[in-house]
Amino acid sequence: MKFSEMKYERIDYAKVGEEIKALTQAMRDAKTFEEAFAVHEKSSKLSHEVSSMIQICMIRHDIDTTDEFYDKEQEYNDEFAPTIREAQVGYTKALYESPFKAQFMEKIGPVAFKNMELELEYFVPEMVPLMQEENALVTRYEKLVATAKIEWEGETLNLPLMTKYTTSPDRETRKKAFAKTTGFFMDNRAEFDEIYDKLVKCRTAQAKLLGFDTYTKLGYARMQRNDYGPDQVKAFRDEVKKKIVPLATKAHEARRKRIGVDHLYYYDTTFFVNGNPEPIGTPEEILASGKKMYEELSPLTGEFFNYMLDNERFDVLGRKTKRNGGYMTSIPNDDNTPFVFANFNKTAGDVDVITHECGHAFQGYLTRKDCDEYRNITMETAEIHSMSMEFFAEPWMEQFFGDRADDYRSYHLEDSLTFIPYGCMVDEFQHIVYANPDMTPEERRMKWVELEKEYRPHMDYGDNECYLTGGLWQRQSHIYAMPFYYIDYCLAQTVALEYKAWMDTDYKAAWDSYIELCKQGARDFYSKSLPKVGIKVPFEAGCLDETVEVIGKKLGV
Ligand code: ZN
Repeated sequence: MKFSEMKYERIDYAKVGEEIKALTQAMRDAKTFEEAFAVHEKSSKLSHEVSSMIQICMIRHDIDTTDEFYDKEQEYNDEFAPTIREAQVGYTKALYESPFKAQFMEKIGPVAFKNMELELEYFVPEMVPLMQEENALVTRYEKLVATAKIEWEGETLNLPLMTKYTTSPDRETRKKAFAKTTGFFMDNRAEFDEIYDKLVKCRTAQAKLLGFDTYTKLGYARMQRNDYGPDQVKAFRDEVKKKIVPLATKAHEARRKRIGVDHLYYYDTTFFVNGNPEPIGTPEEILASGKKMYEELSPLTGEFFNYMLDNERFDVLGRKTKRNGGYMTSIPNDDNTPFVFANFNKTAGDVDVITHECGHAFQGYLTRKDCDEYRNITMETAEIHSMSMEFFAEPWMEQFFGDRADDYRSYHLEDSLTFIPYGCMVDEFQHIVYANPDMTPEERRMKWVELEKEYRPHMDYGDNECYLTGGLWQRQSHIYAMPFYYIDYCLAQTVALEYKAWMDTDYKAAWDSYIELCKQGARDFYSKSLPKVGIKVPFEAGCLDETVEVIGKKLGV
C-alpha cells in the first residue's frame, strides 16, 4: 500500500490493555497447542496494529514537524504507550510458562524463549520511576547537544553543520573548527559530567533492585544479548588490540604520506586527499542511481527497490520542516514493509542512505512474511546487513562519485578499519565505568586517556584541551543514551570486512551467503547463524587473522 494512503487512528490504550489481559487469560486457559497458537496469532495481530499506528505517527511527524495533528498524536503516544507495558509483560509470562513450550519452540524458535527470559528476569515494577528518571536524563543530554550554538565566521551553526568545516580541505580551517566544537563541550563540561554521573548512578540503582552490584548484566539484557556475555566481548577487544590496532597505526602513517604533511594530527584524520569525495547530481539523481544499482545487483534487490518506490517507502529528500537524521523502520500491518527516512544534503552521507539504510531495509523486505520472533534481530546482526551492503555496492560507486569512485572506496575501507579500535574503546570505557559506579568524572576522563593510548597510540591531539584531558567520549551519544550499544557496530564491521575480503575473490559466493544470512533473521542464535553461512564468529581466537591480512594488502600497508 502507498504510504500516503495508510490510515492513522489514535490507539485506545486502555482498551488495548484489556485486550492483552484477555489474551493472557486465554493463553493460560488453552487446552491444546492449536488453541494456544491461535491466541498467540491474535496477540501478534494486536501488537502489529498498535505498533503500526505508532510508526505511522512517528514518520508523519518526522516528515513535517510543523504538522500540529501528528505533533499532538506523538505526544499522546509517548505518554500512554508505556501504560500497557505491564500487561505486555504479563502476556510474555503466560507464553513463557505455556505447557506447550516445546511446540511453540518449533514454530517461533529458541531465541524467542531466551528473549522472554531476559524480559521477565530483568524487570521489576519498582524500577519504573528510575527508568523515567533515566529517560529524562537522556533527553537532557540530547537537548544540550542539539541546541549547541557555534559562532563561526559571522554565522551561528549547530554541531552537524560544523562537519563541513571539520572536514574542510584547508588544514587551518579544520583545526579551528575542531577547537570551536570541542570548545562547546569544554564550556559545558560540568553539565555533561553531571548528567552522566546521574545516569550511571540511576542505572546502578536499577540493577541493585534486581540484586546485582553493578549495571553490566542488566545493560546486556536490555541490549537483548541472548548469546554472549562480557567475557566473549573482552576476548574480541583483546584481539582487536593485538591485530587491528597495529594495522590502524600503519593506515594512519599511510594517510600522513598521502596528504603530504610532516606530522598527522587528529584534525587530519577527517580528511582524504583532495577533499572528501562528494556525490554528483541532484538528490533525485542519487535516488535514480540507487534504483539502477539495485536493479543491476540482482533480480531480488531490483524487486525490493521498486517495491519501495512504488509504495512510497522513501522520504529522503531534505526539506526545511523535516526532522534531522535518518533511519529505517517498518510498518507491521502492511506486510512489515520497510520505510527509509533521510535528509539528503549532497554529501557522501546520501550514498550511505542508499547503501547502509537500504541494506537494513532489504533484509526487512526479505523477511517481511516471517513471524515477529524471527524478525526480532539484535543489533550486532542487523548492522551486518547494512555494513556489508556498503561493500557489496562498491562496484557501482562510479554512478555516485564519478571519477572519484576509487577515492571513495579507499576512504570507506580505511574508515571501516580504523573505526573498530575506536568502537572497542567506547565499549571498554563503559565496562570500566559501570564496574566502578563511584568513579568521579575526573577519574573517568583519566581512564579514557589511558584507553586512547591502548587503542589509538598514533593519535595526536595537539593542543586541543578537551581531547587531551579525556573529554572526547562526551560527544558519543550512545554512551549516554544506550549503554553497551556500540560493540555491535564493531562486531558487524568485522563481519562486513570478512565479506569484503570474500567478495573480492568470489563475489557471487559472498553474495549468496549474505542473502542466506539475511533470510535467517533470528531463527537461531548469533554464534550459530554465522557459521551456517560460512562466516567466522568474531569471538573466536584467530578470527581476525585472514581479514587483517587481506585488508592490509588492499590498503597497501
Ligand atoms: Zn545501521
